[in-house]
Amino acid sequence: NEKLLEVKDLKTSFFTHVGEVKAIRGVSFNLDKGEAIGIVGESGSGKSVTSLSVMRLLQFPGKIVGGEILFRGQDLAKKSEKEMQAIRGNEIAMIFQDPMTSLNPVYTIGNQIMEAIIRHQDLSKSQAKEKAIEMLRLVGIPSPEKRVDNYPHEFSGGMRQRAMIAMALSCEPSLLIADEPTTALDVTIQAQILELMKDLKEKINTSIILITHDLGVVADVCSRIIVMYGGLIMEEGATEDIFYNPKHPYTWGLLKSIPRLDLGGKKRLIPIEGTPPDLLKPPKGCPFAARCPYAMKVCMEHIPPYYSVDEKHRSMCWLLDERAPRVEVDTGVQR
Ligand code: SF4
Ligand code: MG
Repeated sequence: NEKLLEVKDLKTSFFTHVGEVKAIRGVSFNLDKGEAIGIVGESGSGKSVTSLSVMRLLQFPGKIVGGEILFRGQDLAKKSEKEMQAIRGNEIAMIFQDPMTSLNPVYTIGNQIMEAIIRHQDLSKSQAKEKAIEMLRLVGIPSPEKRVDNYPHEFSGGMRQRAMIAMALSCEPSLLIADEPTTALDVTIQAQILELMKDLKEKINTSIILITHDLGVVADVCSRIIVMYGGLIMEEGATEDIFYNPKHPYTWGLLKSIPRLDLGGKKRLIPIEGTPPDLLKPPKGCPFAARCPYAMKVCMEHIPPYYSVDEKHRSMCWLLDERAPRVEVDTGVQR
């Protein structure tokens, strides 16, 4: 499998007036060509900062302070803003939670997609419009020849998100980063958008990083899942393993908090008690220790190493040490 992205020991901080907030504290992962991975965690876990770092879209006072972001072997952390502009939209595209923040209300949907196309491809205006219509059709907008001339407010929320995806994919990027792309949408539309992303991955062979707080969202689209907390990867594994053989207490908590529609239609949502650590003063030991029901003395003192469960499955938790007590957990997730 061809590697598309290799993030190595990425560290990103925000230099605020009260001090350095260490938002990403050494994150490493790979992504193959055509592969889809999910990055999951609560807000403040570092998942969005990871994607903004990869795109080099961090706002002041955010700064990458260490590590490498190898995209096709080239380190994006070292690129100039001008070089990044050529890569963004063209080779790496991003979609956000709220399409209204990325769509300009005073231009038609078609014009915005055309602009994205013309910026990166040598096409005439009429060719770009053809392509825009084709993209709208691809993402399932009905009568795209007419809809192309609509303004964003004439689209429903779900259609705007589809238009955003059309815009993001119009340059056939090799990597699509989607940050909570369905969070603002109702459940039915959410399922349609995820289905669409899965579809497009197959058709265009785009690699996808899907960022979400909801483990339920990634299951269908992603073959691998990264669970983040406190600016670190807590657990990484094949989607199967994360759901059916999870090894980290934080993952257990996330699994238990998935709304369960299967239990007689009643939602079962058990939130994880407590709040994420203050990354202005990161805890000395395991970042999850303050909220972890299984925390031991060692957890407070030392950050655990990664224990490999198997070749593609690792967990940063002292419970995997052979000296730790055995813990049995029922997350309630059934096959
Ligand atoms: Fe809990 Fe300790 Fe594992 Fe951290 S290392 S998740 S505190 S058991
Ligand atoms: Mg391209």
